Amino acid sequence: MPNLPAYLIVHHTAVSRGKNAEQFEAVRGYHLRKGWGDIGYHYFIEPDGTVKKGRAENSVGAHTKQKLMNYRSLGIALAGNFDSENPTELQLKALAKLLKKLRTKYNLPVERVAPHRYYATYKSCPGTRFTDQMLEQLARGEVETFTPPAWAEAGVAWAAEQKILTQITGEPISDYRLAAILYNFVKSKVAQL
Ligand SMILES: [Zn+2]
Repeated sequence: MPNLPAYLIVHHTAVSRGKNAEQFEAVRGYHLRKGWGDIGYHYFIEPDGTVKKGRAENSVGAHTKQKLMNYRSLGIALAGNFDSENPTELQLKALAKLLKKLRTKYNLPVERVAPHRYYATYKSCPGTRFTDQMLEQLARGEVETFTPPAWAEAGVAWAAEQKILTQITGEPISDYRLAAILYNFVKSKVAQL
């Protein structure tokens, strides 16, 4: 039975790039030891933005068993643990490019790009720091880079967690966004009272 890609599902490896900056071979070895024919994903993006080819696109995947997704999707994994670190700018750029290519090839609307957790609801995959909004923006090709610089990381993570910033783009701020940020901030304070 061949794989018929109708969805693009994004994962993280849940292994910090601090521990291992080049993970493809390690993950492939791990999946082979499980008795799988190849790495479970179709594409793999290293922290430096290198895209590595996993199993063939028409091969059934081993990444999302819910809703028979392995038979009707392509699995794309990003190396890193995005519960505790942000995807790198190079990874996000590479992912945006890959999603665009695959969406065009299989004629898939933006709605067909999903995080793994959408199907495996008990998981955070591809990590709490890789939000649904980020993925949607990437899939739309609207924003290719929004990884904050190191000095802003803690603040951005806090503001996102508090839902004070709902869109993190690195763009200059407009009056509209400022108003929304102030509103969200005051609302979060009131809710705590
Ligand atoms: Zn996953």
